[in-house]
Amino acid sequence: MSRFDLVEHPALWRAGWYRHARRIESPNFGLRPSQATVDLVVLHSISLPPGVYGGDEVQRFFCNHLDLHEHPYFEGLNGLHVSSHFYIRRHGELFQFVSADDRAWHAGDSSYRDSTNCNDNSIGIELEGVEGGVFEDDQYETLVALSSAILQYFPVTAFAGHEHVAPNRKADPGAGFDWLLLKQGLGLDADFFPRASC
Ligand SMILES: [Zn+2]
Repeated sequence: MSRFDLVEHPALWRAGWYRHARRIESPNFGLRPSQATVDLVVLHSISLPPGVYGGDEVQRFFCNHLDLHEHPYFEGLNGLHVSSHFYIRRHGELFQFVSADDRAWHAGDSSYRDSTNCNDNSIGIELEGVEGGVFEDDQYETLVALSSAILQYFPVTAFAGHEHVAPNRKADPGAGFDWLLLKQGLGLDADFFPRASC
């Protein structure tokens, strides 16, 4: 036995907060329904304004601190109160806004397989990017590590895009997202992913 065996490994999750994410608490969340089982991960893409990367606009948007006069595009966000659990930047940096034990506001009116109101039973992950665009290797690396940690803690049975849970309203992350890369990174069966994507 070495002295390293005596070091206690810190928990990956504490009250739904992931150890390896930078925490910025959003007020935009609620309790999950008491009967909800967190069995779905919903992937999104976002950038504010679209296609501009590296700023702090998304973080401020999820915390209701975005000044809508900063850019003409932001005027369309007036009155929206949204959040996701996680946000992965282009270089793989990871933020968390809402405890995964709580209900974040990312999916809106939605349904997938046997459930409706996907916010109740899902974890939302935003990838910095544009709808239909491609994502960076660093983002997949963080996404696979985060998803592995989610699978250890929550009984997730499916990963889907916003486009799959709200097909009439949403198209993100879109055709540039590589579902096969995620599937292979996690070593999961095709059943976990949207049909025809893998
Ligand atoms: Zn979305």
